[in-house]
Amino acid sequence: MSGSSDKTYAKSFSDSELRERLTPEQYEITQNAGTERAFTGVYNDTKDSGTYKCIVCDEALFTSDTKYDSGSGWPSFWKPMEGDKVETTEDRSYGMVRTEVNCSSCGAHLGHVFPDGPQPSGERYCMNSAALRLDPEDAS
Ligand SMILES: [Zn+2]
Repeated sequence: MSGSSDKTYAKSFSDSELRERLTPEQYEITQNAGTERAFTGVYNDTKDSGTYKCIVCDEALFTSDTKYDSGSGWPSFWKPMEGDKVETTEDRSYGMVRTEVNCSSCGAHLGHVFPDGPQPSGERYCMNSAALRLDPEDAS
């Protein structure tokens, strides 16, 4: 995992457990900082209400209230949930300088954040659908 391999997280899982529990794509993205192809993720167009949770540790990371259509091909949010749910580190892979976004609880790679999002934050959290699980709100 780039940039954060020396850190201890509150929630940790064995490699064998993750390989068994996650799909190969989910594993590649969250553990090896992979990226799903644009417009292929299940949550790219999703407008359902609910909470987006970490696919690895089930921590709530984003809400549908901050999701917006960025046109990028990946689910995009203008801010994460309150309480330092995600952490960011500089990512210099692929000859670019980007800011990597990881789950603060388990270190799973989620995506990147870019400074071209809408107000009020001006940030675009560009996430991989495969790193998230939408927990729908009760329809009551
Ligand atoms: Zn997590």
